[in-house]
Amino acid sequence: MLRRPWLRFTLNLLYFTTILTLFFFFEIAAFTNAKTIYKIKESGDYMGLLIGSHVSISKGLIGAAKEAHSYGANTFMIYTGAPQNTKRRPIDDLKIEEGIAYMAEHDIRDIVVHAPYIVNMSSVKEDIYALAQTFLAEEIRRTEAIGSRYIVLHPGSFTSKDPDWGIKRIAEGLNNILTKDTKPFICLETMAGKGTEIGRSFEELQQIIELIELKDKIGVCFDTCHTHDSGYDIIHHFDDVLQSFDDIIGLDRLKVFHINGSLNIAGARKDRHANIGADASNNRGQDMIGSEALRHIVQHPICQNKPLILETPWLDKKTNLYKEEIAMLRGEV
Ligand code: FE
Ligand code: FE
Ligand code: ZN
Repeated sequence: MLRRPWLRFTLNLLYFTTILTLFFFFEIAAFTNAKTIYKIKESGDYMGLLIGSHVSISKGLIGAAKEAHSYGANTFMIYTGAPQNTKRRPIDDLKIEEGIAYMAEHDIRDIVVHAPYIVNMSSVKEDIYALAQTFLAEEIRRTEAIGSRYIVLHPGSFTSKDPDWGIKRIAEGLNNILTKDTKPFICLETMAGKGTEIGRSFEELQQIIELIELKDKIGVCFDTCHTHDSGYDIIHHFDDVLQSFDDIIGLDRLKVFHINGSLNIAGARKDRHANIGADASNNRGQDMIGSEALRHIVQHPICQNKPLILETPWLDKKTNLYKEEIAMLRGEV
């Protein structure tokens, strides 16, 4: 060894670089960990069903998480404030840290935010169109602060114009607010097609996506009530519906499901949600999709690892069926 000092020098150098690399690696890891307190566990490694419902944020994220847990849910969806207006509490009031800690303890993950449905990204009125963009941009920031990776958006309604006009308008609005730093996926929801809603077909959603500059920020939320109401046969031919989704949009965009029954027959374009498999004795009406079809959808491999969110009606002010519906969809009852 001594006769070969160059070898010794090389070995020493190697030794010190290794130590240094390891040191920096752990430092960076520790630093990243410290920064990911607000990051919710990702579902990538999770095998199984992520089912939850819409829950209230009125008691903060911690209240929402506790409510979800009481239904036996392992995910949930919130509106960051009242869905029908744009009044919002400051993020600091939402008890986010407590909520995230509770979620980690109770294995709740991949939560979803729903943008208020008042946001019409294809409004004909310039002031409302501008407001929709400002508000949605803030809502995206709130979604990020909460640690959610998904914000569901009703694309918009074309009102006095036509679908093509609306599609361009929506894409333009989204292009104005999306940046390469935008973290959550903007999940365009499949719509029932009531009134002048845009997004009643996979083609319409794809036409929007085509015009988006930062396409990797866009996802899709598949609503069972809406797709059924807009005329897709999810009851008998769910696989064919998925195939067409894949052909037109691409299944990799499918990020979130809304699992709802429907009060109407396929193609009715009504958008009235029913409880899962509700029969005529349910005071909110009978489900025309049925528990068998909905359970088949939920148990389909496409639904593994994706948040499946119930938006089913409450029977009265105090009573909902989320707990029963979740258990039923999981196949526990
Ligand atoms: Fe929705
Ligand atoms: Fe929905
Ligand atoms: Zn709906």
